[in-house]
Amino acid sequence: MFQPCEICGADDWRIAYEGPIRAGGFGQQHEGGRVGRCGGCGVERLDESCSVDAAAYESEAYRAAMGQGLSVEEFFAHADPTQLQNLTALWPHALRGKVVADIGCGAGSFLDHVAGIAARIIAVEPTPLYHDALRARGYAVYPYAADAAKAELASADAAVTFQVIEHVPDPVAFLKDISALLKPGAPLLIATPNRADILMTLLPEEFPSFYYRRVHRWYFDAASLRHAVVRAGFTVQEERFLHGYGMANALAWLRDRRPTGHTRLPGIDRAADAHWKAYLEASGQADTLYLLARNSG
Ligand SMILES: [Zn+2]
Repeated sequence: MFQPCEICGADDWRIAYEGPIRAGGFGQQHEGGRVGRCGGCGVERLDESCSVDAAAYESEAYRAAMGQGLSVEEFFAHADPTQLQNLTALWPHALRGKVVADIGCGAGSFLDHVAGIAARIIAVEPTPLYHDALRARGYAVYPYAADAAKAELASADAAVTFQVIEHVPDPVAFLKDISALLKPGAPLLIATPNRADILMTLLPEEFPSFYYRRVHRWYFDAASLRHAVVRAGFTVQEERFLHGYGMANALAWLRDRRPTGHTRLPGIDRAADAHWKAYLEASGQADTLYLLARNSG
């Protein structure tokens, strides 16, 4: 069913999940999803026969299938609200005067948030749809990290890659390409959905069919992400869990058994949200896993 693990090389898979998986927005499902867990590094991998082909990331059909809009404005509407969390995860690294690369930057939401202080911006994005808009803002644009590294070897002072590593066919090769783009010792901040998200525990029947999805090949916990990063030649500096949703989101999930976004519930105020987030972040059950690594190369 699976080839030896692309991350650790072990050939020791067991089934972690079998059932429907997400194929776009909520309610659009692909029946017969199958996810294996590696006995070597602990990563979970979607059966390749259920995965979206890697070349599809360049296509507009892919964005449409993700339930995402195609326009730059639609990308910003979705991505801009997540940048405060990404910037929080980056702290205390300052980017003033630095060459900053964003791998899988989309239309460049994060980059816009740091462009005012960065010396130069390297925008890596396979979807050509966003290239003109990125270039118009003065960013150097490349489709893949390998292209950027070829043109600008070891030139970046810092790199980020948010919600991308779970899509790529070979995470270690992906990280090695980023390593080649970075200066020795430069930081890399990675974000990916956290497999230990509290909703996986609270809703073991309903949430996995939403969490597992055709466009995500890989499902990391902290240990397996660490494994991939070290294998690619980085040193792990820090891992951190950050949660984007308040307490009302989890309660509404439990009540309605479906995603409800940033809904409000009577009696659940911002103080409750803050306590809830702090608890999940401290206990490793937040929705997003961040890892800060340093390039050893
Ligand atoms: Zn493995």
